[in-house]
Amino acid sequence: MQNTDITIVGAGSAGLTLALLLAPLNLNVVLLEQGNAPEITDAKYQRVSALNLASKRLLVHLGAWSSIEKTAAAYQDMQVWDSDSFAKIAFNAKAERVEALGWICDNEQIRQALYQQLKSHANVSCQFNCSINSLVQSDREVLINYNQQQLLLSRLVVGADGIHSLVRKTAQLPQVHRHYNQQALVATIKTEQPHQATARQIFLPGGPLALLPLPDPHLCSIVWSVPAADTAAKLALAETDFNHALTAASQSILGVLTLQTPLRNFELQMRYASQWLNQRIVLVADAAHSVHPLAGQGMNLGLMDVAALAQLIEQQLIAGKDITEQRMLRQYERWRKAEAQSLIVAMEAFNRAFSNKQPLLKLIRAVGMTGVDKAPWLKQKIMAAALGNSGDLPQLAKL
Ligand SMILES: Cc1cc2nc3c(=O)[nH]c(=O)nc-3n(C[C@H](O)[C@H](O)[C@H](O)COP(=O)(O)OP(=O)(O)OC[C@H]3O[C@@H](n4cnc5c(N)ncnc54)[C@H](O)[C@@H]3O)c2cc1C
Repeated sequence: MQNTDITIVGAGSAGLTLALLLAPLNLNVVLLEQGNAPEITDAKYQRVSALNLASKRLLVHLGAWSSIEKTAAAYQDMQVWDSDSFAKIAFNAKAERVEALGWICDNEQIRQALYQQLKSHANVSCQFNCSINSLVQSDREVLINYNQQQLLLSRLVVGADGIHSLVRKTAQLPQVHRHYNQQALVATIKTEQPHQATARQIFLPGGPLALLPLPDPHLCSIVWSVPAADTAAKLALAETDFNHALTAASQSILGVLTLQTPLRNFELQMRYASQWLNQRIVLVADAAHSVHPLAGQGMNLGLMDVAALAQLIEQQLIAGKDITEQRMLRQYERWRKAEAQSLIVAMEAFNRAFSNKQPLLKLIRAVGMTGVDKAPWLKQKIMAAALGNSGDLPQLAKL
């Protein structure tokens, strides 16, 4: 039987970041992952995330950013418009007085960079290809049985195991969810005209289409949210027909668009655990919440969760207090729930407003969006939130 202070289940971006944040605190940490260890490979951009300044600051602190940045594309401009009206809004890094509005990063490169940093910490043990058989909580510890006969006794367990979290289900933490009735189609595409380091998002009647710039000036990653009922038909299209449909949906903003990789599809659901804590078991990131990718904020939110939890654990240790004290864990839950709720509400409102075809509502949103574009103070507020420069940030993510 192995004993440890903290077990983290899941080595995605959130689990690896948390392990790295806890590493200097002289705690014994075990990271259990069902998949393989991240391998050093070239960036393939199969899945990308737009990271904001707050996430960058955290990853710089952890020593992982310099490696992530090598394969990331910084974008200086962002253009958002409605396909159905005159509504449009544009943001620019210089006008916001920031180095970039965000970075499009390869998810696997983020994991690799974090894992490479983690390897130098002897007090963190990463175990891959793990299959959890049971997770049982008592008053004093949590017993995890994995890979059939391995036993692990932990003072605290953190569920960083993504949207289908086994930890959440085992700890009986209730979750609310709502289908957006959309699926996201994801692929790398070639653009006839250069993307000019600009992130673009078009609100179509069926859902938003994002064109996210990659380091090559003629390559973008797309996230095309389409009605669930249309997904099968879109996936079944011959490649040339799909390219035509995509180019038309993009209003030929970058000329002809052509698929470079197979399409992948992701079901889109809002998920929110109404309780993130059950005594010695606590949830972070997608295990606790998932939001529509239209604002590219899911990973950013998860990274702030783990930075907040690590900060509170460190404060407990400095004060000579127990790292499983309920008062502290509840403080984490309250803090991060408030941030997650604001984002979920904003994404719900956005998605509903833009998928509504009522003429009056279309007019209101067009006037509203164009009005915001002409109001610098309001634009600054929106951008500060997107950049991660506002809200109740953990210390390591602050300016
Ligand atoms: C189409 C799309 C586009 C997106 N774009 C953006 C964006 O631009 N910006 C942004 O910030 N966010 C974006 N997101 C959200 C972002 O991808 C997620 O929020 C983020 O990847 C979640 O990280 P995580 O570590 O919580 O979970 P995951 O990345 O899902 O990692 C969970 C880990 O846990 C492991 N695991 C699961 N179950 C077990 C188990 N039982 N035992 C052991 N290990 C287990 C998994 O193998 C995995 O490695 C997007 C999401 C989608 C779907």
